[in-house]
Amino acid sequence: MRILIAEDDEVLSDGLCRCMKQSGYAVDCVKDGQSASLILSGEQPFDLVILDLGLPKVDGFNVLRGLREKNKQVPVIILTARDAEGDRVKGLDLGADDYMVKPFSLPELEARVRALLRRGQCGVNPVLTCGALSFDSVGRRAQINGELLELTTRELSVLEALMTRIGWVTSKEQLLERLYSYAEEASSNAIEVYIHRLRKKIEPAGVTVRTIRGLGYIIDKAAETKS
Ligand code: CA
Repeated sequence: MRILIAEDDEVLSDGLCRCMKQSGYAVDCVKDGQSASLILSGEQPFDLVILDLGLPKVDGFNVLRGLREKNKQVPVIILTARDAEGDRVKGLDLGADDYMVKPFSLPELEARVRALLRRGQCGVNPVLTCGALSFDSVGRRAQINGELLELTTRELSVLEALMTRIGWVTSKEQLLERLYSYAEEASSNAIEVYIHRLRKKIEPAGVTVRTIRGLGYIIDKAAETKS
């Protein structure tokens, strides 16, 4: 899951960014409306946007308007100090999915982020299984035969990417996109390391991650030894 934070308050932006990263999301931060519009019209899809209204260059309302005019349906939470009824109505009418007023509670913002991401996955079975391995995409946890599998946030993101594409190859680029924001130095070697660790951890489920040379990875049941 990839989140964009558009917030010009340095302290708040850093805090939000850190908190969202800890929850396992790939996070990009921009400090003005122009950069927000630019990154949102790029090829990289975002799963959610946290948008301040009082932004330099282009204000949040115009960022949102531009986004919806391009028919981009990414969920947007407006996070602003403006608490007037008129602003709330305008924000929601322009196509925001939620509106929170500063000062806000961080756990509540996180819950609202989860709620919107969940809605985005409507119709997708939240629990994906491969052999004895199951992955709960809403609770973001993996189990082997009902027992919780301990994974780091990065390993979890790799597993999530693979499990949502069972039967399909996931390329290294797709994994890099899911795991890293623009600002982070991403290397494909790191992906190999995560895949290696993940393989060991899911082995007891009789599941493996196959390397498809030149294409990427696919999660599959390990080949059974024929008797
Ligand atoms: Ca601001």
